Amino acid sequence: MERIGIYGGTFNPIHRGHIHLAREIQAALQFDRLLFIPSRIPPHKEAKQLASGQDRLEMVRLALEEELPEAMVSDLELKSRGKSYTFYTLEKLQALLPDSAFTLIMGTDMLLTFDQWFRWRDILSMACLAVAARNAGEQQLMEKKARALSPEGRITVVPMTPLPMSSTDVRRIIRTGGDPSALLPEKVWAYIRDRGLYQ
Ligand code: ATP
Repeated sequence: MERIGIYGGTFNPIHRGHIHLAREIQAALQFDRLLFIPSRIPPHKEAKQLASGQDRLEMVRLALEEELPEAMVSDLELKSRGKSYTFYTLEKLQALLPDSAFTLIMGTDMLLTFDQWFRWRDILSMACLAVAARNAGEQQLMEKKARALSPEGRITVVPMTPLPMSSTDVRRIIRTGGDPSALLPEKVWAYIRDRGLYQ
């Protein structure tokens, strides 16, 4: 049975906080495969200044090439029609990769709203969750939420020194003419500059 970590997100753009979370969870749980899946239209939040799917996919690819070469990016959600619902993505993954055990990777905000996701109970029966805090001081809150959502322990909270930042921060810095290079893999920042994204 292959153990596969699935990391979904808007990745608009992918930043060092995303890579940090994936790296730390991979170090703790040692998946056989680690898959980043950029979402088409985010159902859980409003998309502001959304770069094209092609650009977001390419930025994830560049970031992984530079920072996390053992991981791969998938266009599964970008090429499907309509909103990206995790439930349907998991159904597709189960069909494509039978005999696999899936774990969804996410940060604090996604765990705290997970019980508002479409068919979240079914999602939890199809996959485990691996979560870590985005900001200092969130660990206990996450452990409490994890126990409440899955008393049988299908949600693992991985202790991690947080690297607080968001794509919103990156977009704001770029829009206002600042330097976001501390927040981004070098190749991602070069790509954004070349294409004039988020201006
Ligand atoms: P935005 O600011 O545009 O809302 P975001 O930075 O929250 O974007 P997303 O692509 O929406 O990024 O997040 C995808 C996943 O990555 C979510 O599970 C989120 O919790 C997690 N995540 C984002 N930033 C961090 C971070 N700095 N540390 C840990 N997890 C993060």
